[in-house]
Amino acid sequence: MEIVFICLLVFGVIFAFDAMQSRLHKYLLFRRKKGFEQHETYFRSIISNNISYFNKLDHEQQHKWLFRAYLFFRSKKFHYVGVAKSDEMPILISATAAQLTLGLENFSLNYFRDIYVLQHDYHYGFYSLPFMGHVDSSGIYLSWDNFLQGIRSSEDSSNVGLHEMAHALAYVNFITKTDEDKHFKKEFHQYSKVARPIFQEMQRGKKTLLGDYAASNYHEFWAVSVEFFFENPERLQHELPELYEAMVRLLRQDPYIVLRKNKVA
Ligand SMILES: [Zn+2]
Repeated sequence: MEIVFICLLVFGVIFAFDAMQSRLHKYLLFRRKKGFEQHETYFRSIISNNISYFNKLDHEQQHKWLFRAYLFFRSKKFHYVGVAKSDEMPILISATAAQLTLGLENFSLNYFRDIYVLQHDYHYGFYSLPFMGHVDSSGIYLSWDNFLQGIRSSEDSSNVGLHEMAHALAYVNFITKTDEDKHFKKEFHQYSKVARPIFQEMQRGKKTLLGDYAASNYHEFWAVSVEFFFENPERLQHELPELYEAMVRLLRQDPYIVLRKNKVA
């Protein structure tokens, strides 16, 4: 009899704790939404002025993008190293993370709390070539000159913001496993079925639009393919259609369709 009573008590406590947690979560989300309402116009003007792809999405997607960028922005600590801080910096960096993960459930890149902004290319570790950005266990690093160039011009298919966020997304899913997205993890295997053979051919010397840097290792192949996916979807879809389609399924976004719709409109 006593055992039954203790069991009931334990279940009761667990149930009450669960209910309390879910109410707290709802309350925090409500507070965040209220806070977001005050900042939405400001976020919209900065993102819309700098990332042309944002303007091509429908209102619902834009709203989702802005809210997620706001939550990302609130959850990170930005450090400015040898660069004068401007209000747009953390917002545009957060917007880039939200762009990549727009079709996924998890978008916080939890594990990374610190984002470092530098002015120009920089040297890191023992590498002789200068870096535009990198990701390691201490945080996400971006050089502002290159970041801006990346979001404002799509002709070079280069976007260091998306590139580093792609590394960070793989990092939290496969290395730290701190922010695993079920869909992303499952679908990444399908992506690799298409991507690995292309990468291996490139390592044997085959040239593709992704360029030699993508052949340096599979992490770079992934990050460069993300840059092309958003920056030049038409060419990627045309030249490596299977890879493009695998990325549409993986990221649950289709920038080529978005562009085509806008051309017609
Ligand atoms: Zn890289």
